[in-house]
Amino acid sequence: PPRGETLLYLNGVNKAFDGFKAINDLSLVVARGEMRAIIGPNGAGKTTMMDIITGKTRPDTGDVYFAGDTDLTRHDEAEIASMGIGRKFQKPTVFEGHTVEGNLRLALAGSRSIFAALLHKRSAAEDARIDEILATVRLAEKRALSAADLSHGQKQWLEIGMLLAQDPELLLIDEPVAGMTDAETEETARLLRDIARERSVVVVEHDMHFVRMLGVKVTCLHEGHVLAEGPLDDVSANPRVIEVYLGR
Ligand code: ADP
Repeated sequence: PPRGETLLYLNGVNKAFDGFKAINDLSLVVARGEMRAIIGPNGAGKTTMMDIITGKTRPDTGDVYFAGDTDLTRHDEAEIASMGIGRKFQKPTVFEGHTVEGNLRLALAGSRSIFAALLHKRSAAEDARIDEILATVRLAEKRALSAADLSHGQKQWLEIGMLLAQDPELLLIDEPVAGMTDAETEETARLLRDIARERSVVVVEHDMHFVRMLGVKVTCLHEGHVLAEGPLDDVSANPRVIEVYLGR
């Protein structure tokens, strides 16, 4: 298993569904404190890769290690979440009946139950953590608002805040800017860059304009395999990448 600067390590991973290779000899190394953008056409295996990392799908063969020698293929989804890997799906799932702050308090209490959150005794440290998260996700001025009254983009930020409440070392984020305004998209790029100063982030994204704003190393998947990896300008100029995006 890898050591030191490597946080996430996939090597020679394979996963077939009914004989169809969704993931084919996939390798990916993400360093501590790195943000990586994952691109690739529909069906490239991006979702399946995220499912494998989070324990939702077990690979047929290959290595998946986290934080040194933790073999993720030996753990289930709940265990992996508790180890410090947070996943944000495309659709926001905030509690619309609660305030912005209430949502964060629920997440901080590590519970989906409002009763548990109410019974939970507040501490100064927790209040400070809430303030810090609100600032990070650009919602300090919205803390008392009902989550239902947030814009679509703000709901996405709140959900990212709820993930931060669990203090993950690695955040996996699926298409964060889908449906956002241009201003929200730009703010999301800044917000994720802020988060990536302390944590590793893997972002699956279709919006190349947004990937450019992130300014990070890009991995292009195709047919369950890494087709190209490097700066966006190099990846997007790669003839094989152009070919798969233009559909041959
Ligand atoms: P992406 O997220 O890049 O669009 P996916 O990981 O969703 O790609 O899918 C990769 C391939 O694997 C697709 O051809 C998809 O149809 C197939 N696939 C994914 N999950 C399953 C499943 N549970 N059963 C059968 N085929 C699947």
